[in-house]
Amino acid sequence: MNKKILVFTDLDGTLLDHYTYQTDDATEMIIRLKQNNIAIIPNSSKTLPEIQLIRQQLNLNSPFIIENGAAIYIPVNYFPTQPNGTHLENGFWVKSFCPNKDHWLALLKNNEDSFKEAFQSFSDMSVEQLAELTGLSLENAALSKQRQYGEPLNWLGNEEQQEQFTNIMVELGANVLQGGRFLHISGHCDKGQAQAWLTEQYKQNQMSIDLSSQPNEIVTIALGDGKNDIAMLEQATIAVQVRSPVHDFPELTRKEHVFQSSLYGPAGWSECLNEILSSKLIY
Ligand SMILES: [Mg+2]
Repeated sequence: MNKKILVFTDLDGTLLDHYTYQTDDATEMIIRLKQNNIAIIPNSSKTLPEIQLIRQQLNLNSPFIIENGAAIYIPVNYFPTQPNGTHLENGFWVKSFCPNKDHWLALLKNNEDSFKEAFQSFSDMSVEQLAELTGLSLENAALSKQRQYGEPLNWLGNEEQQEQFTNIMVELGANVLQGGRFLHISGHCDKGQAQAWLTEQYKQNQMSIDLSSQPNEIVTIALGDGKNDIAMLEQATIAVQVRSPVHDFPELTRKEHVFQSSLYGPAGWSECLNEILSSKLIY
C-alpha cells in the first residue's frame, strides 16, 4: 500500500450504533486501520467534549472535526509545522470556519423582543431541562450543551413566527436548519469544506517531509449515514453510505466510487471498509 489513506467518519448512526451508541462491531476494523497507519478522523455534529470522550474510548490520536465542520482540532505537533490560520488551544491547533456562539447569542438577544416566549435556547436551559427534553443522561446533556459555534433552539412559537424568525436570521448571515428536535442557528460551514482543508494539510506536510521522492497520493474515504454527511461524501475520493435503521440513503450527485452498506451502523462501517481495503482502489 503506497498511498496515504485518510478515513473521515461521521459518528452517530455511522461509527456509533443509532440506538445503543456502541462501536463493538467496528472494533476489529479500527485495529486493522491503526495497524496499517490509516488515520481515523471523526467528522461529526457533536461538540468538542463529546468527541474527546469517544476518541479516548477508541484510543484515537488523529485530528477531528466538530459541530458539522465548524472547527478542526489537530493535536499539537501532529504535523511538523503549525498550519496557517490555526490558533493554539489546550494542546490543539484549531482551525475554525465560522463565528462562535457569542455572535449568534448576540443576534438572538437583539431579536428576542419581537419573538417573546417563541423560543428557548440551549444556553437558557439547565442541564436537567435539556436531559428531560432529549432523553440524554445528565452527563451527556452537559457535554452536548457545550456548543461553541452555534445555538440550538427549542421552538415554542407557531409556524408563521418561525418563518419570520428564520428570514430575519438568514438576512443577518445565519444558517438556520431544522433538526430532528431543535432549530439550529449557526454559520455557513459543512463537513465537506473542513475535510477538504484538512486533506490539504496532509498533502502539504507530506511534501515538506519527503522532498526527495514523489509524495504518496492521498486517498480519502468518507463514511456517513445522514444528510449532513452529503458534502463530505461528495468531496472524498471514495464515499461510503452507511445504512440507517430510520431513514433511506440520502441521494448523492456522484455515482463513481460509492459504496452502500447492507448492514447498519458500525457493522456496515466495517463491511464497506473491508471491501475497499480488499479492492484495487487504494493500491
Ligand atoms: Mg449520522
